[in-house]
Amino acid sequence: MNYSPRPDDVRFILEQVLQAPAQLQALPAFAETDAALLDQVLDEAGKFVGEVIAPLQAVGDSPGCRFDAGVVTTPPGFRAAYQAFWQAGWPALACAPEDGGQGLPWVLEGVLYEWLSAANHGWTMAPGLLHGAYECLRHHGSEQLKTRYLAKIASGEWLATMCLTEAHAGSDLGLVRTRALARTDGSYGISGAKIFISGGEHDLTDNIVHLVLARLPEAPPGPKGLSLFLVPKVLPDGGRNMASCDRIEEKMGLHGSPTCSMRFEDATGWLVGEAGRGLNAMFAMMNAARLHVALQGIGLLDAAWQKADAYAQERRQMRVPGPRDAGQPADPIIGHPAVRRILDTQRAWIDGARVLAYRTGVELDLARHHGDAARRAAAERWCSLVTPVLKSVCTDQGFHGASDCLQVFGGHGYVRESGIEQIVRDSRVTMIYEGTNEIQAIDLLVRKVLPDGGAALSALLLQLRGDLDAAQEAHADVLRRLAELRYLTTQLAQAFKLQPDLPYWIAGDYLRALALALLAWAWTRIDAAAPQAPAPERWTGGSAAFRRWVLPEFALRLDIIKAQLAQAPATRETT
Ligand SMILES: Cc1cc2nc3c(=O)[nH]c(=O)nc-3n(C[C@H](O)[C@H](O)[C@H](O)COP(=O)(O)OP(=O)(O)OC[C@H]3O[C@@H](n4cnc5c(N)ncnc54)[C@H](O)[C@@H]3O)c2cc1C
Repeated sequence: MNYSPRPDDVRFILEQVLQAPAQLQALPAFAETDAALLDQVLDEAGKFVGEVIAPLQAVGDSPGCRFDAGVVTTPPGFRAAYQAFWQAGWPALACAPEDGGQGLPWVLEGVLYEWLSAANHGWTMAPGLLHGAYECLRHHGSEQLKTRYLAKIASGEWLATMCLTEAHAGSDLGLVRTRALARTDGSYGISGAKIFISGGEHDLTDNIVHLVLARLPEAPPGPKGLSLFLVPKVLPDGGRNMASCDRIEEKMGLHGSPTCSMRFEDATGWLVGEAGRGLNAMFAMMNAARLHVALQGIGLLDAAWQKADAYAQERRQMRVPGPRDAGQPADPIIGHPAVRRILDTQRAWIDGARVLAYRTGVELDLARHHGDAARRAAAERWCSLVTPVLKSVCTDQGFHGASDCLQVFGGHGYVRESGIEQIVRDSRVTMIYEGTNEIQAIDLLVRKVLPDGGAALSALLLQLRGDLDAAQEAHADVLRRLAELRYLTTQLAQAFKLQPDLPYWIAGDYLRALALALLAWAWTRIDAAAPQAPAPERWTGGSAAFRRWVLPEFALRLDIIKAQLAQAPATRETT
């Protein structure tokens, strides 16, 4: 059974829960994006993903990609599907019309990539970096580079890579050693070795545009000494550049995506942005890239849920507790509370996380296009604080939840035929790349929440309060949690001054507590819109499952943080 996108679910969230069309249409850039256009794009995207990309899921896993003497061959059908993808205009969905794009909101691209990842994570890795490369070049590239490369990247005719990681430099990019030497013609010679480069070499497109982090000779050590260079596989004169693939990794999963070791031997490149501000140029696209990975987690979990739900309706084992049908020796396992609980828990995560992720997509659009500076600043604050939360929890749940869905299959899940073990293997990497989940937690608490004493976080939580009504019991419960989190944040900010390592111990707990508070808010929004849904019980059931099986973790996380705070010097002195 292949993954099948369900546009109606997404439509309900975008239109009824988030009122996205009205918010987007208020922006001059998206004046034409009404609900009808949104519906049409969702229907077409769903069809393309279901009919062209999903059927290639198994072949992506086996035989997967092959490497032979520097040449990478993608699985059968991958190239044709990619050609169909870019020629239909899908990569250009959210690119600016002046670059050949369709000028649609980012949030639609987010939904498209969630579905693509669900259908075929390996294949989707190839175009997954396109939009980031496009934004990077659009904002930081010279006019000459833009003329040569921007339209090809916007359309997807040429694919792009991010060449950051080196064997000794993973989370700590300040250790990057790849060198760049200026030449007299304005280009640079790039020399060094990069590892784990997704799509570093393949047969999907005729050219590949690498964005490479490297260090100029006079650059200081550390992250501030890094610059970004555009290094094409094929040079403008048609010659082959000195950028080659030494091997592809043998991985746990994601066999449809070639993870390449790349060698640059005085390869020709051009500076993107200012010298020494390479990370800056990359960080400009960081929120969108991390949101993409969060959506991978949601998509993969949805794919696992679809399989497990279908299986659980068919598979019969033992009788469920309660009244029985005469004549049936066994009931469908979906009737067993333990199985039902697994499936309901994942559904509660998928739907709540979708609300937060799509809202973040809309906020990205507002941050770029809103006419009012204060609204843009609020949107940026939302993206900056919520994106690491989503990257981390959606990918954690993508993997652990997919593993729970495998459990629904019993032994049949552990064998290849069911296809669910591929999702579990493929999803694991999302917790690692684009900044590991530990780095996301530190980014949130240590870099974003604590430096201003929790002021930005507080403003975000107050913004959410505006949607809640203390007279309603469920809302009062969410308000209480938001208040607890604000109070705890103030205490942490105090403790941080006297015990600087404290937040690093509990950053993961803090991130999860915030995630659960945000999800609780998201479910109140779903509750409010549920009566307008085609099948309201689908959403009210999800809300109940969220409160029964997911939300109680909030108290556990707070207990862990409080116990650590109780040991901290700042707290001991003030009590
Ligand atoms: C399939 C795949 C595709 C990839 N694609 C790309 C790509 O296209 N381009 C690219 O440049 N890179 C890519 N990567 C690399 C990926 O981004 C890195 O693997 C990731 O950033 C982690 O770096 P590392 O593997 O060196 O682990 P390390 O940085 O060595 O980390 C090891 C462990 O230590 C933890 N850790 C490290 N520092 C800290 C800290 N300060 N605080 C707390 N914990 C810490 C980490 O969370 C992790 O658990 C890819 C990796 C894989 C597996």
